[in-house]
Amino acid sequence: MEKVAGGKNREDICTEVFAAMKKHRIRVYYQPQYDAITTKLVGAEALARWIKEDGTVVMPGSFIPALEAGREIIDFDWYILEEVCAFLKKQMEEKVHFVTVAVNFSRRHVYEDDFVEHLCSVVDSYGVPHKKIEVEITESAFVDQEDKIAGWIEKIRELGFRVAIDDFGSGLSSLSFVKDISVDVLKIDKSLLSRNCEDEKERIVLESIINFAHRLKLTTVAEGVETREQIGFLRTCSCKVIQGFLFGKPMSEQDYMEICKKDEEVEEPEDILVVQAPSSATQLLLEAVFTRYPLVIFANLTRNSFYMMAYENFTARSCPSTGIFDELIAHGASSMHPEDRELFSRTFTIENLMDAYNRGEKSVSVVTRQLGDDGIYRRVETTDYFVKSPSVDDVLIIALCQNLD
Ligand code: C2E
Ligand code: MG
Ligand code: MG
Repeated sequence: MEKVAGGKNREDICTEVFAAMKKHRIRVYYQPQYDAITTKLVGAEALARWIKEDGTVVMPGSFIPALEAGREIIDFDWYILEEVCAFLKKQMEEKVHFVTVAVNFSRRHVYEDDFVEHLCSVVDSYGVPHKKIEVEITESAFVDQEDKIAGWIEKIRELGFRVAIDDFGSGLSSLSFVKDISVDVLKIDKSLLSRNCEDEKERIVLESIINFAHRLKLTTVAEGVETREQIGFLRTCSCKVIQGFLFGKPMSEQDYMEICKKDEEVEEPEDILVVQAPSSATQLLLEAVFTRYPLVIFANLTRNSFYMMAYENFTARSCPSTGIFDELIAHGASSMHPEDRELFSRTFTIENLMDAYNRGEKSVSVVTRQLGDDGIYRRVETTDYFVKSPSVDDVLIIALCQNLD
């Protein structure tokens, strides 16, 4: 017979857990999630706990693997969802401020044909708005079912539920599936955070994952945050949500209820510049820059790549927001007056820019006539400033474009 950790066989554990469920000894603990900047409560994760008769709290690591090895986990997860919905209903009835709760669903649910119908029927029976439930699935769920998963998640989201990818970066990572599957939230696994985020490589990995998630318009949640230094670094990366022991351990329903009640109290607003994390300060600075320069481009000449920050404000939608720098210049040149195209292309070849950089010049600038969406040519000044990043030796530029007419 199959054995699991602790020497007990799987079936015995499952039988005991199901008996505990009947006696209501399987409880939901809630771990609050906070906005990284404002520290306002924005959500919570539902985590199962088995409370033994003598009050001992058994952690999910001791029984979830046994359930997950068979189909038992399916009924278990539905039980937890039911508990969560009953609690949210109570919060609504008592008019307590309530936030979205993330519920863990095993990958086995992917094979349930009526998953979406079941989800709706439970949530609707408690009158809970769909957007208050987040379906949390671990990345490993997608390993062998990628094409099926995309449609499955789409259906869940179409019905107004949020979907989160749990434990991202825990070893089963596949960056490509995040690109193919649309979800709302990416939860960054705690294994990616060392004690104080002081390791340079680790910082680069975290920063890149968060940046990539934001570019895909996903909300980022960092799990397992235990130190102030970790929060400090996550803020500089603009990580949106923090979940971890530093702000709150998983807690009983009653304790979580108190947290929700407290969060309603309006706190004295602090001076925004005092609490502002560097990343948000950068955002403010960019906004000021945009008032003068409608287009800001970051380019890495060494790698022939670019990233356009002002895309949202930029009217020429046909222009990609990121890609190959050479192609961007070709695109830019095509929007110029025919007499200016050669000048524009010649000025901004990587070769010409690198020569200027090696001569010690601070910037390269040119004025050309550009065709607007209204069919009128206007003079634009494009200036490429050479900038230095402390983390790479690559030659980088920031290009600022301004209208002169
Ligand atoms: P998870 O979904 O990744 O949940 C996060 C785990 O990280 C929780 O462990 C939480 O207590 C822990 N954690 C949160 N903040 C910190 C921190 O600052 N430091 C450290 N060291 N740990 C932190 P927990 O409650 O033991 O749950 C373990 C796993 O069991 C969960 O990982 C989830 O995969 C699974 N699980 C729990 N409840 C359920 C459930 O109802 N259904 C399913 N399918 N799985 C569940
Ligand atoms: Mg989880
Ligand atoms: Mg997790």
